[in-house]
Amino acid sequence: MSSSNSVSSTRVTESGASSGEPQCYCGVTTYMKTSYTEHNFGHRFYSCSIYKIKRACEFFAWVDPPMCDHGKRVLKHMRDRQECLNVDQKDVQILKKEVEEHKDEIQKNCVHEKKYKEEVEKHHKHMKKYKVALVVLSIVVVCLFF
Ligand SMILES: [Zn+2]
Repeated sequence: MSSSNSVSSTRVTESGASSGEPQCYCGVTTYMKTSYTEHNFGHRFYSCSIYKIKRACEFFAWVDPPMCDHGKRVLKHMRDRQECLNVDQKDVQILKKEVEEHKDEIQKNCVHEKKYKEEVEKHHKHMKKYKVALVVLSIVVVCLFF
Protein backbone atom coordinates (compact mmCIF):
# COMPACT_ATOMS: atom_id res chain seq x y z
CA MET A 1 0.00 0.00 0.00
CA SER A 2 1.42 3.42 -0.92
CA SER A 3 -0.45 5.77 1.41
CA SER A 4 2.45 8.22 1.54
CA ASN A 5 2.18 8.95 -2.16
CA SER A 6 0.89 12.43 -2.98
CA VAL A 7 -1.24 11.22 -5.89
CA SER A 8 -2.84 8.60 -3.71
CA SER A 9 -4.08 10.83 -0.90
CA THR A 10 -7.47 11.45 -2.52
CA ARG A 11 -10.36 10.80 -0.18
CA VAL A 12 -13.58 9.25 -1.31
CA THR A 13 -16.48 10.57 0.70
CA GLU A 14 -19.20 8.35 2.13
CA SER A 15 -21.65 9.66 -0.46
CA GLY A 16 -19.11 8.96 -3.20
CA ALA A 17 -18.62 5.46 -1.90
CA SER A 18 -22.30 4.66 -1.92
CA SER A 19 -22.70 5.91 -5.50
CA GLY A 20 -20.30 3.23 -6.74
CA GLU A 21 -16.69 2.19 -6.67
CA PRO A 22 -14.23 4.60 -8.33
CA GLN A 23 -12.07 3.57 -11.25
CA CYS A 24 -8.31 3.42 -10.84
CA TYR A 25 -5.79 4.86 -13.33
CA CYS A 26 -5.95 1.61 -15.28
CA GLY A 27 -9.62 2.28 -15.92
CA VAL A 28 -10.60 -0.72 -13.82
CA THR A 29 -13.37 -0.47 -11.25
CA THR A 30 -11.87 -0.77 -7.78
CA TYR A 31 -13.48 -2.48 -4.82
CA MET A 32 -13.37 -1.55 -1.17
CA LYS A 33 -10.74 -3.17 1.04
CA THR A 34 -9.99 -2.85 4.73
CA SER A 35 -6.60 -1.91 6.12
CA TYR A 36 -5.13 -4.03 8.93
CA THR A 37 -1.98 -2.01 9.48
CA GLU A 38 -1.17 -0.65 12.94
CA HIS A 39 -1.87 2.98 11.98
CA ASN A 40 -4.98 2.54 9.87
CA PHE A 41 -6.52 -0.54 11.37
CA GLY A 42 -10.10 -1.08 10.23
CA HIS A 43 -9.99 1.79 7.74
CA ARG A 44 -11.57 1.11 4.40
CA PHE A 45 -9.94 2.18 1.17
CA TYR A 46 -10.02 1.82 -2.59
CA SER A 47 -6.94 0.79 -4.53
CA CYS A 48 -6.04 -0.73 -7.87
CA SER A 49 -7.66 -4.14 -8.29
CA ILE A 50 -5.40 -5.69 -10.89
CA TYR A 51 -2.25 -5.97 -8.79
CA LYS A 52 -2.52 -9.75 -8.91
CA ILE A 53 -2.49 -9.84 -12.71
CA LYS A 54 0.13 -7.17 -13.43
CA ARG A 55 1.83 -4.18 -11.77
CA ALA A 56 -0.79 -2.09 -10.07
CA CYS A 57 -1.20 1.63 -10.70
CA GLU A 58 -0.82 4.07 -7.83
CA PHE A 59 -4.48 4.82 -7.34
CA PHE A 60 -5.37 4.92 -3.65
CA ALA A 61 -8.26 6.56 -1.82
CA TRP A 62 -9.45 6.27 1.76
CA VAL A 63 -13.15 5.74 2.41
CA ASP A 64 -13.08 6.42 6.15
CA PRO A 65 -11.83 9.71 7.62
CA PRO A 66 -8.53 9.57 9.57
CA MET A 67 -8.83 8.55 13.20
CA CYS A 68 -7.66 10.84 16.01
CA ASP A 69 -4.73 9.74 18.22
CA HIS A 70 -7.04 8.84 21.08
CA GLY A 71 -9.13 6.64 18.80
CA LYS A 72 -5.96 4.91 17.57
CA ARG A 73 -4.84 4.26 21.16
CA VAL A 74 -8.23 2.85 22.09
CA LEU A 75 -8.25 0.65 19.02
CA LYS A 76 -4.73 -0.64 19.73
CA HIS A 77 -5.73 -1.37 23.31
CA MET A 78 -8.79 -3.27 22.12
CA ARG A 79 -6.71 -5.25 19.63
CA ASP A 80 -4.19 -6.19 22.33
CA ARG A 81 -7.02 -7.28 24.60
CA GLN A 82 -8.54 -9.30 21.78
CA GLU A 83 -5.22 -11.10 21.26
CA CYS A 84 -5.00 -11.85 24.98
CA LEU A 85 -8.52 -13.21 24.92
CA ASN A 86 -7.68 -15.41 21.95
CA VAL A 87 -4.71 -16.86 23.84
CA ASP A 88 -6.85 -17.36 26.96
CA GLN A 89 -9.52 -19.02 24.86
CA LYS A 90 -6.95 -21.49 23.52
CA ASP A 91 -5.79 -22.28 27.06
CA VAL A 92 -9.37 -22.86 28.16
CA GLN A 93 -9.94 -25.21 25.25
CA ILE A 94 -6.77 -27.18 26.03
CA LEU A 95 -7.81 -27.45 29.68
CA LYS A 96 -11.33 -28.52 28.70
CA LYS A 97 -9.85 -31.27 26.53
CA GLU A 98 -7.64 -32.42 29.39
CA VAL A 99 -10.59 -32.49 31.77
CA GLU A 100 -12.56 -34.49 29.21
CA GLU A 101 -9.67 -36.96 28.87
CA HIS A 102 -9.39 -37.38 32.64
CA LYS A 103 -13.11 -37.49 33.34
CA ASP A 104 -13.21 -41.28 33.80
CA GLU A 105 -10.21 -41.15 36.07
CA ILE A 106 -11.74 -38.35 38.10
CA GLN A 107 -15.00 -40.27 38.48
CA LYS A 108 -13.13 -43.40 39.53
CA ASN A 109 -11.19 -41.35 42.05
CA CYS A 110 -14.44 -39.92 43.37
CA VAL A 111 -15.77 -43.43 44.01
CA HIS A 112 -12.49 -44.39 45.67
CA GLU A 113 -12.63 -41.28 47.81
CA LYS A 114 -16.13 -42.18 49.02
CA LYS A 115 -14.95 -45.66 49.99
CA TYR A 116 -11.93 -44.25 51.78
CA LYS A 117 -14.08 -41.77 53.64
CA GLU A 118 -16.38 -44.56 54.82
CA GLU A 119 -13.42 -46.59 56.00
CA VAL A 120 -11.90 -43.62 57.79
CA GLU A 121 -15.25 -43.06 59.50
CA LYS A 122 -15.33 -46.70 60.62
CA HIS A 123 -11.81 -46.38 62.02
CA HIS A 124 -12.79 -43.23 63.85
CA LYS A 125 -15.65 -45.08 65.55
CA HIS A 126 -13.27 -47.89 66.54
CA MET A 127 -10.78 -45.36 67.84
CA LYS A 128 -13.48 -43.81 70.03
CA LYS A 129 -14.30 -47.21 71.53
CA TYR A 130 -10.60 -47.86 72.17
CA LYS A 131 -10.19 -44.48 73.78
CA VAL A 132 -13.08 -45.13 76.14
CA ALA A 133 -11.62 -48.56 76.93
CA LEU A 134 -8.22 -47.01 77.53
CA VAL A 135 -9.67 -44.44 79.95
CA VAL A 136 -11.56 -47.15 81.83
CA LEU A 137 -8.42 -49.29 81.95
CA SER A 138 -6.35 -46.37 83.25
CA ILE A 139 -8.90 -45.75 86.01
CA VAL A 140 -8.83 -49.45 86.93
CA VAL A 141 -5.01 -49.44 87.01
CA VAL A 142 -4.95 -46.28 89.15
CA CYS A 143 -7.52 -47.81 91.53
CA LEU A 144 -5.56 -51.04 91.80
CA PHE A 145 -2.27 -49.37 92.72
CA PHE A 146 -3.51 -46.75 95.17
ZN1 LIG B 1 -5.05 0.40 -11.51
